[in-house]
Amino acid sequence: MRLSVVVPLLNEESNLRPLHSRLSAVFDRLKVEGQIIFVDDGSTDSSAKVIAELAHADPRVKGIVFSRNFGHEAASTAGLDAADGDAIVLMDADLQDPPEVIEQMFARWREGYEIIYARRSKRKGESAYKRCTSWLFYRILSALSEVQIPLDVGDFRLIDRRVLDAVKRCREHDRFMRGLIAWTGFRSTAVEYERPERVSGETKYNTLKLLWLSLDAAVGFSILPLRLASALGFLVTLGSLVMVMILVAQKLMSQLEIPGYALQTAGLFFLGGVQMLLLGILGEYIGRIYRQIQARPLYVVREIISADQSKHAATVERVL
Ligand code: UDP
Ligand code: MG
Repeated sequence: MRLSVVVPLLNEESNLRPLHSRLSAVFDRLKVEGQIIFVDDGSTDSSAKVIAELAHADPRVKGIVFSRNFGHEAASTAGLDAADGDAIVLMDADLQDPPEVIEQMFARWREGYEIIYARRSKRKGESAYKRCTSWLFYRILSALSEVQIPLDVGDFRLIDRRVLDAVKRCREHDRFMRGLIAWTGFRSTAVEYERPERVSGETKYNTLKLLWLSLDAAVGFSILPLRLASALGFLVTLGSLVMVMILVAQKLMSQLEIPGYALQTAGLFFLGGVQMLLLGILGEYIGRIYRQIQARPLYVVREIISADQSKHAATVERVL
């Protein structure tokens, strides 16, 4: 049984040693063959040096050092690409994701779940503002997205090898890892934990970065924004037609003087509406092109079940 832990990090020199020793203890208690993959996302402190020292002393440690900062999602991707365990954990380096929670996640994996999220029941030491923006981020996300992305879970999770293999087949840019993992559709569950404060260093996710991440999530997992033009155009066109009908009826049925600009305005709305509708149709095509360009696999297989002639029993084969 092999358990890989993938840790993307940026300027976390003081957190790496404690993280390593706590992970080692977890590996010992679980009695698994461990693997730790540190991905240094262009740190400017001595993180890379610390990783090298750790790797030198412990063969289970592997380091991937980026040439520059490519972002958290890219760093996670690189780590996952290198992971070769039967179960893979993705976690932050700042000890906000307590390594001990892996033990609970591992137990659920043993029960047969393929994706185990760590849900934050409490967040300590985070400002009301951060909690508020996070809360909003998850609600907007779930409203927009076409795949069910679980609420209030960060990147901290354990996934089965099969989930990883499916995610690895998605090579799109501007990726949103949490969305991709949910998209695979494997059996998932959550374990609860209290999110402690960052041990040292400071958060690298400011409001702007969170905003960009929301954009990646919304645009990557929905073509709803593109469809907005169609809906709006349809409404405006309909409205202007109703307006014209009312004007004509008024003209016919009463002696009321209808001013000339009334019809002009109605015409203006009509044209505007038709234009938006056409934009929406264009958007629909662009949406389809976009999906095609993303080149995600069309389906993901969990297992293949076939009759084993020699044993006269159905066998379940792991698909790799
Ligand atoms: N991180 C990274 N690249 C970046 C930003 C952050 O690899 O460009 C790492 C960071 O070192 C940490 C994890 O991503 O291990 C989560 O970042 P952070 O703790 O700053 O986010 P928060 O927990 O505040 O949402
Ligand atoms: Mg953090």
